[in-house]
Amino acid sequence: MNFDHFREIIEKKITSLEAQSVQGEQARAVVALDQQSVGRLSRQDALQQQAMAKAQEQMRQRELSQLKQALERLDDGSFGLCKECEEEIAEKRLEINPATQICVQCCH
Ligand SMILES: [Zn+2]
Repeated sequence: MNFDHFREIIEKKITSLEAQSVQGEQARAVVALDQQSVGRLSRQDALQQQAMAKAQEQMRQRELSQLKQALERLDDGSFGLCKECEEEIAEKRLEINPATQICVQCCH
């Protein structure tokens, strides 16, 4: 298995998620500003947008922590092994989601 390849994929994903997270924060700040100065959005709209942004941010943070754990597994040599049966996880599966810890057999 090409561990460097997966390290690269994981680091790219982390970089892009962190960038999205920053953008999300900026977007939320803009909504708050709009409300104060123009009052274009109703309070309900703003609350809905905030709730959505918050949910997205939580998803990003969850994915980030899973990816960071995958990096740790790359370091300690357990990356790519199923945590249920300890068999190797198919590379194609890792390609789609390098943070996965369970092989396709144990998943079903
Ligand atoms: Zn398994």
